[in-house]
Amino acid sequence: MKKYGLNLAEHQTELVALIKLLLAEKSLTKDRYSQVVKKITKPGGEMFSKDELIFAYQKLAGTAGIPPFSPKFIDLIKMKPVRTMSGVTPVTVLTKPFPCPGQCIFCPSDIRMPKSYLSDEPGAQRAERNWFDPYLQVYSRLQAYASIGHHTDKIEIIILGGTWSYYPEAYQIWFIKECFRALNEFGKVDGREAVLKIYETIKVGNLWTNDPTQNKANLENEQITEGAEFKYNRIIAKSYLEPEKKLGLDQIQRATWEELLAQQVINETALCRSVGLVIETRPDHISEAEVTKIRRLGCTKTQIGIQSLSDEVLTKNRRGHDVAATRRAFSLLRLAGFKIHGHMMANLYGSTPESDVEDYERLFKDLDFKPDELKLYPCSLIGSAELMDYYRDGRWRPYTSDELLQVITASIALTPEYCRLTRIIRDIPSTDIVEGNKLTNFRQVAERQMVKDGRSSRDIRAREIKGEAFDPSKIELKISTYETSVTTEKFLQYVVLVEGQEKLLGFLRLSLPKVKPFIAELEGSAMIREIHVYGNTVLIGEGSTGQAQHLGLGTKLIDEAKKIVKEAGFAKLNVISAIGTKEYYRKKGFSDGELYQYLMI
Ligand code: SF4
Repeated sequence: MKKYGLNLAEHQTELVALIKLLLAEKSLTKDRYSQVVKKITKPGGEMFSKDELIFAYQKLAGTAGIPPFSPKFIDLIKMKPVRTMSGVTPVTVLTKPFPCPGQCIFCPSDIRMPKSYLSDEPGAQRAERNWFDPYLQVYSRLQAYASIGHHTDKIEIIILGGTWSYYPEAYQIWFIKECFRALNEFGKVDGREAVLKIYETIKVGNLWTNDPTQNKANLENEQITEGAEFKYNRIIAKSYLEPEKKLGLDQIQRATWEELLAQQVINETALCRSVGLVIETRPDHISEAEVTKIRRLGCTKTQIGIQSLSDEVLTKNRRGHDVAATRRAFSLLRLAGFKIHGHMMANLYGSTPESDVEDYERLFKDLDFKPDELKLYPCSLIGSAELMDYYRDGRWRPYTSDELLQVITASIALTPEYCRLTRIIRDIPSTDIVEGNKLTNFRQVAERQMVKDGRSSRDIRAREIKGEAFDPSKIELKISTYETSVTTEKFLQYVVLVEGQEKLLGFLRLSLPKVKPFIAELEGSAMIREIHVYGNTVLIGEGSTGQAQHLGLGTKLIDEAKKIVKEAGFAKLNVISAIGTKEYYRKKGFSDGELYQYLMI
């Protein structure tokens, strides 16, 4: 019995023992879970993933001394009840290992992965087991969600890996086309065997497989342990891209715009719809043409590496671009209606706790920035990063726990209510961190400290309603305004008090441009950049359940936006709809434009 990479018969003894160990736990924290799963691994030391454990549990419950099936086991190891509280199920996929134009000294160089990712991060292992293939990754993830009872009708596809804009265009189109194809076929046709056959036939250079243990052994001699500069790119080009070309995989991993469009059209009414599509790239790769292209691909949000607002720090870390590039990227993305998800780093070479906090403050004061979402990642020391040399000779050191706490608490407190502080501290396995903070729950540590100090978080994540009961008659609309260099931003929120705390039920981001847009169809038009209504994931078209998603807040937010747009003198309102939300907006009276949907006011 084989489940795409997991041979159940081969690992049955370990799986039975591990499932029993997990069942002996009454509840699990993330740390405790990590401790337990490390006790029993596959023969090469690779940990069983949650998907594999759930799959094995479903097959083995009631046999081999394991009690009969109970969903409690799945709840126990899921440990992430907030994962789909936003009403949307995230599916993260990784692009294949590929050279990156960056030379950032802090960036890990794991040659089994796209640049900056580590092969023992959970999502990375999933990608590797699926040959970094988009169809296999999306399909398998949907199946894993479905098997544990999550709804799979509203999906946000998050594409991670190196610098998206540096991959060949034909690969980009193919990658996204295959993501859409998996969404469109899920629950109807299972095309995975056919895709799998391609990789198993080709077996790129006999070096790369979809077995992490095998890859680890094959590449042991090639792994970069120090002096990573450029080496990653050279090894990837020689060991992966060259054989791939010889064997013709590069001809398979390409698609045309017409092929992509065909899948996008199907997805508009599919059972699993893309309600968001996210890519990550570097600021200096954002241009008018690039922004137009990623919009055409169906993207709605861009993750962008800011890292620092100091030219000196960027240079010292060999980032390869300046702050001016970040300013330009933000303005172009904002004018095109994208949600901007910034990545900021603390503790870079050349920064101090004080300068990090100043930088963070500037991020929300300077009119050129003001991201909608943010990841704040203090620099972690990874063995394969060039930063190791700086650490060894004393030029750089990780912050102490107190210094880190000072930076994180100050940053949380400085985050405005229109920004979602999505993640603090990158979820890197502690075994990969040479020195410095290894607590992935440092955010909770910081939040506890803030409570002690009488400080609070106002960011979106801290206020999202998470299944709490509320009184619908107490819902209030709040509208705040903030300026950026290219737009006036209106942030509309429906909030309600729950036990004295303000909880966010839904919000809308409205941009009123102050300068001429570079995309012709946006001229003279305001833009809805995002509508988000919270609640547990509820099926599209399902009747009222008493949750935020069924109070008509989406419609009310659009109506309020229309009023604001009219008063501001705009004749047209555009929306940066995802492919799978087009039908929703059509029902709200929006017409299809070329890249956006619009409403005449
Ligand atoms: S651009 Fe990103 S992926 Fe590339 S080296 Fe720099 S941090 Fe790493």
